[in-house]
Amino acid sequence: MSEQLDMSPEELERAGARAFEWIADYLARPEAHPVLSRVRPGELKEALPRSAPREGEPIEAILDDFERLIVPGITHWNHPGFLAYFAITGSGPGILGELLSAALNINAMLWQTSPAATELEEVALDWLRQMIGLEQGFKGVIVDTASLGTVCSIAAARHALSELAIQDRGLAGRSDVPRLLLYTSEQAHSSVEKAAIVLGIGSENVRKLPTDDDFRMSVPALETAIERDRAAGGRPFCVVATVGTTSTSSIDPVPQIAGVCEREGLWLHVDAAYAGSAAIVPEYRHVLDGCDSANSIIVNPHKWLFTPIDCSALYVRDADQFTDAFSLVPEYLHTGVDGDVTNYMDWGIALGRRFRALKLWMVLRYFGSAGIARHIARHIELAQRFAGWVDDDREFERLAPAPLSLVCFRARPTQLVQAAKRSGRTEDELESALDRFNETLLGRVNESGTIYISRTRLRGRFTLRLAVGNLRTTEKHVAGAWQLLQAEVARLLDNGAAAWLSNDEQGISI
Ligand code: PLP
Repeated sequence: MSEQLDMSPEELERAGARAFEWIADYLARPEAHPVLSRVRPGELKEALPRSAPREGEPIEAILDDFERLIVPGITHWNHPGFLAYFAITGSGPGILGELLSAALNINAMLWQTSPAATELEEVALDWLRQMIGLEQGFKGVIVDTASLGTVCSIAAARHALSELAIQDRGLAGRSDVPRLLLYTSEQAHSSVEKAAIVLGIGSENVRKLPTDDDFRMSVPALETAIERDRAAGGRPFCVVATVGTTSTSSIDPVPQIAGVCEREGLWLHVDAAYAGSAAIVPEYRHVLDGCDSANSIIVNPHKWLFTPIDCSALYVRDADQFTDAFSLVPEYLHTGVDGDVTNYMDWGIALGRRFRALKLWMVLRYFGSAGIARHIARHIELAQRFAGWVDDDREFERLAPAPLSLVCFRARPTQLVQAAKRSGRTEDELESALDRFNETLLGRVNESGTIYISRTRLRGRFTLRLAVGNLRTTEKHVAGAWQLLQAEVARLLDNGAAAWLSNDEQGISI
């Protein structure tokens, strides 16, 4: 009997219809699932066989197990109560784009290996460039993540130190290479330091500059650090500014930072992974002020642009300078049209490239720039409303400005504060109690299955983060989160506030 080559068209259609029915139902009722998965560590691994089956199994059985075993282990980023990290959306058109690109299964490494993939990437990225108001000279490439985009940008910045010929001679064992220094703020995403580590710059040579009261990079501190490093014989080469920091969504003063970079001859990379999309809303276009002077800028459609993960748009001001850092073309990758087209393999590290442009293009077309702007504006409005509720409630306080759709706050129960005062506790002891209280509060609300929020630490304080970014999140969900937080605070004080002032974990266990 001849071996079946792949699923038959009939089988694919049948299984596809079932999968699609599941998807449509899932997206219609994401709240049927707890937003945060309730499985315990190792649960799925225990439920699955240790080795792959010797002979194939029917697709129906596999889909059964998807529903029965895999879905319970999913934390639902598509749930409207997902308000953690930076909330995202796998939108309908984005999901279809992902599906079609999987079906085509092309590799967008060269123009010739799929001309439409390359040209659609150029078109979709140029549409997005216009939508966020970046200057025409910027050219883009889609990378998987902002982290990789930042690695590529810093690699290009390092390559721009042409006198050091690092591409040819490397870094190790050279006495003629000065200390290379990179500047960013203490609020920058960890991917910046990681990039410096993998590129041989080293953590110690990443200057994490202090921030002002609003968590924005201090420009005087940047200037002082550069001056000091030059005086010590170092070679400053790159500044990474952030538009929308991970912890607070603060926006570094890019126009002033760009001025410093220009004066000092430094590469400016802007990490606008989350907040870059806000520039699509005319009233928020200013978030990218100064970015036209950057050498590179990254915006993540997989964060706040309704495109399924992964999809990061990296724009560079000088495409030739950028590709010079990466282009290495072996004989087997030459084509007859290399001089006339974009070969995206020259724009980064990986050769193989997914057709991510399709889902981005479908999302941009389906919603349109005005539609996207309306959704983003609505998210900002919802977060601002939440921030207002926090500000108006004596039992809570805000721990950072909320310029966009992220609110940083904590509970500060008056009962607890008064109990601390009455018993003569120090400010530090009160702060520790508030940390414990808020960490427990976070656990409690996240256990509810209806919302999921995340945490950070600001100026030493345990901080709750609520971020709005999912298309399906409405006022009902944000108001529900607020009510739940209020109710849990009351519940945690059921036995009085004194227990929170002791270090005894027993007193706060949930
Ligand atoms: N930059 C910022 C400001 C972020 O908030 C994040 C992730 O949240 C990243 C970079 C990393 O993004 P990615 O997961 O695309 O690497």
